[in-house]
Amino acid sequence: MNPVADKPELAEPHIGGWLASLGLGVEYTRSAGNSLYYRDAEGAEVEVLDLVGGYGSTILGHNNPDIVDYAKSLLDGGTPVHAQFSKHPYANDLAWKLNTILHREFGVTEHYSAVFANSGAEANEVAIKHAEMDRVLKIGAALAAVEANLDAVAATGAAIGATAPLPAAAGGIDELVAAVRAANAERAATPPVYLAPEGSFHGKLAASVQLTHNPGYRTPFSAMAAQARFVPLERTDVIAKTIEAERKTLLDLAVDGGVVHVVERPIPAVSAFILEPIQGEAGIRVLDRDAVARLRDLLDAEDIPVIVDEVQSGMGRSGAFFASSHLGVRGDYITLAKSLGGGIAKAAITLIRASRYRDDFELVHSSTYAKDSFSTQIAIRVVELLEADGGEAYRLATRQGEKLLAALRSLRDEFSDVVKEVRGKGLMAGLEFHDLTGSGSEVISEQAAGGLIGYLFSGYLLREHNLRVFPTASATNTLRFEPSIHITDEEIARTATGLRALIEVVRAEDGKTLLG
Ligand code: PMP
Repeated sequence: MNPVADKPELAEPHIGGWLASLGLGVEYTRSAGNSLYYRDAEGAEVEVLDLVGGYGSTILGHNNPDIVDYAKSLLDGGTPVHAQFSKHPYANDLAWKLNTILHREFGVTEHYSAVFANSGAEANEVAIKHAEMDRVLKIGAALAAVEANLDAVAATGAAIGATAPLPAAAGGIDELVAAVRAANAERAATPPVYLAPEGSFHGKLAASVQLTHNPGYRTPFSAMAAQARFVPLERTDVIAKTIEAERKTLLDLAVDGGVVHVVERPIPAVSAFILEPIQGEAGIRVLDRDAVARLRDLLDAEDIPVIVDEVQSGMGRSGAFFASSHLGVRGDYITLAKSLGGGIAKAAITLIRASRYRDDFELVHSSTYAKDSFSTQIAIRVVELLEADGGEAYRLATRQGEKLLAALRSLRDEFSDVVKEVRGKGLMAGLEFHDLTGSGSEVISEQAAGGLIGYLFSGYLLREHNLRVFPTASATNTLRFEPSIHITDEEIARTATGLRALIEVVRAEDGKTLLG
C-alpha cells in the first residue's frame, strides 16, 4: 500500500505532472535485463522493452544477476562502505584495470591517476577544476618569474623607454614597477575560458552546465562560473581564431639597448577543450575522426588540454571500452560514470594523465561519498564483466549495435520523407525525424515547435508498443537507443515494428493517435 497515495506530490511535482500529460508517468515496479515492468489497472504486470537503458547506465542490463549477487555479498560481508581517509586498495585496483584497458586501446604506456566522483557532471567538474588549477599554477609561476625580473630591472637604474600598453611613468621606475604589478594582478585574475564543440552536453552542475550548449539548461546560470566558447568542430580555422581572441599576457620589463621597455609574456587563458567522442544529448553524433585529429594538433601546439567526456559513450557501448579510441584521440582527462556503476551503484571517475597531474589537487578536492568500497568494488566487477572472454562484451555491442543500426537505417530508407537521418556507433544509436513544424496535424506541429515532439513519440511508443524510448535532451526530434549488450535480435525486431507504426502515424499526420 502506498502511504502517500492521497497526498499532493512534493517530489519534483512539476515534472511528474508533465510526464503524466504525455502518458509517461508510469511507476515501474521491477526491472531485469532490458525490461522494466509496471502494473496495469487490474494489477497485472506489463513488460516494457527499455531502449533508454538508464540513459546509458545499464550497459549490462537492469539488475544484472552477477552484479546483484556481488552487491549482496559485499553488504553481507560488511564491506566498509564509508571509511574515508584510509587505505583503499580496491580503488587502486580499479585505477589499474582502467589503465590497462587504456594502454591497450590507445597503444600507450603513460599512466593516468584516478580521482573518484559520484556522477557524470561531478567527474567533469573534477576535470574542469584540475585543468583550472593547472592553469592557475602556471600563471603563478609566470608571475613569480616576472616578480623576480622586475626587481632585477629596477636595480639596473636604466632609463625608461616605451611603456605601452601602460601610460608613461613620470614618477620613474618605481611607479612603472607598481603599474606593472597592478596590471598583472588584474590580468592574472581573468577568469578562464573553456572550449567545446557545438551541441556539447557535460552535465548540469554549476561549472559543467556552462559547457552544456543547450541554452535552456545553461543561460539561467551563466553568471555562476567560467564560460565556454562553443565552436564548430570541423572548422579548425574558427577554433584557431577563437583561441587567438582569448590570448592573455602578463606585463614584464626588459632592458634593451640600455633602456627599460614594457614587454608582454603569454599566460594560459583557455583551461581546457572538452568533447564527447559520440555526442549523446546533441542527437547521437559521432565526431569526425579527421576533424578531431586536426583539433588535437592545434590544441597540442597551444598546450591546451583535452577533456574527453566518456560518461555516455564509454564503458563498451561503442564496441570499445573508450569510444575515443575509435577516433584516435586520447584525452588528457577522461571521465567515466553512468555504466561504471553497473546500473546498481553511483560511481564516476576522472582519469588524469601523469604528465599533467598535479598532486596537490588531492588536497583540495574530495567528496564524502566518492571512492566508497561499495561503488568502487561494483565498478571493478563491471569492468571485469566487460573484459571477460577477451572482450566478448565489446564484440556484442558491435554486433548487436550493427543490427540495431541496420534496422533503423532500413526504416529511414523506406520512410525518407519522415526520417531524416540515422546515426550512431555500437549500442548508441539515434533516429532523427524531419522538422515537423509544418505538419498538417496541429498536435504534431505544435509539439514540434515547442521542442517536445520526441516526448510525444515516447508516450505513444510506451502506450501502444510497450517500448521505452526517449529523445536526446538537446535535440528532441532525435530518438535515442542505448540498450544493454544483451539486447536480442527479437527485441531489435520488436523495436523496428513499433517505430514503423510510429512513423506511419506521423506520415498520416494522425495527431489523435499519438496523443492516445
Ligand atoms: N556527460 C555526458 C556526455 C552525459 O551524457 C551526461 C548525462 N547525460 C553527463 C555528462 C552528466 O552525467 P550525470 O547525469 O551523471 O551528472
